[in-house]
Amino acid sequence: MMDLFGGEQPMDSPNVAQVFRPEAVVCSLESPPRRILLPMDAQQKDRYSRQILFAPIGESGQQLLLNSKAVLVGCGATGTAVANLLIRAGLGALRIIDRDFVEASNLQRQTLFEESDAQENLPKSIAAEKRLKAINSQSQIDPIVADLTPKNARQLLANFPIILDGTDNFETRLLINDAAIALNTPWIYAAAVASTGVTMTILPGETACLACLLETADADNAAHQNDATCDTAGILNSAVNAVAAIESTEAIKLLIGQRNALHQRLISQDVWTNETRAIKVARNENCRACAKKTFRYLEGSAQPHITLCGRDSVQIHERHRTLDLKALHQALTNTATEVRSNNYLLSFQVNSYKVTVFPDGRAIIKGTRDPAVARTLYARYIGS
Ligand SMILES: [Zn+2]
Repeated sequence: MMDLFGGEQPMDSPNVAQVFRPEAVVCSLESPPRRILLPMDAQQKDRYSRQILFAPIGESGQQLLLNSKAVLVGCGATGTAVANLLIRAGLGALRIIDRDFVEASNLQRQTLFEESDAQENLPKSIAAEKRLKAINSQSQIDPIVADLTPKNARQLLANFPIILDGTDNFETRLLINDAAIALNTPWIYAAAVASTGVTMTILPGETACLACLLETADADNAAHQNDATCDTAGILNSAVNAVAAIESTEAIKLLIGQRNALHQRLISQDVWTNETRAIKVARNENCRACAKKTFRYLEGSAQPHITLCGRDSVQIHERHRTLDLKALHQALTNTATEVRSNNYLLSFQVNSYKVTVFPDGRAIIKGTRDPAVARTLYARYIGS
């Protein structure tokens, strides 16, 4: 897929030129922003009129937003809600990175997806692009079907003024945290479990980072407990939308240069008990990430070759090979059941296991938490 967003690559697409007018591309998060923007046309003024009426945004804020871009990591519950809000608000461009595909059990809370997306086995970033383009045809969407890993994080996250968290695990969040500090890019941590959402806006070098918050002995344990209960405690779609509302609003503040309006707290909101907390988090002066610049997640020393995806599944990371999905589909028709494929992935059933494989060799095996079982299935049906 053509990279519409890569700052190091020439922006040669006519669509990109329309949205990112060359004189408007220079992104600065300093306040006030130093961007030269073309005036909005009458159609845009009408479309965003209710948001322009909100004084802290106004016409100048709306212009900035229309010329801004962001990158979203993870397009599940929080990710779809944030993408929906920002694209409706007029964000100029959004890159969406997600490793998974749509399933029926996602529809309760992943608000960009429909039953047909699950039936078609579409990757989440592709299904999200389809829906977001229908919502706002003027916004550029760059869907990436991939797992964010130490190998690709710098490349996929570079040249964006903000990184948004839509992930469901702390391993990826700590990778984003490392990359954001290394790239000196603000990012917004957001998570939701059961009826509670938690979020914090992280400005490298200015605020506490996720490692300041999590990487103390006690906090580390608490974080891993949260991680472990994520799939057993369930989730209310309202908790997701509450935290996504805060995350997307913080993103708009940053993108239009209103840093003084950021909440500057770790916010936790329970939509069931209606308990809200806002805690000031101090920077850890010995922080491994933001003080000592030891990026062990970005350097890959914390990334295992096979990871549990949460749920009842194992992911085998891409093996730097190119799979011919059509040929594999043909080969599997005699040995597996429910063999299905589209342009992005192939899935099949073996006994109680569902295997989904992507063109780069990455696979998700559902129905087991045992890496040995996953490896065996991979070797037997896909080849080693
Ligand atoms: Zn830190």
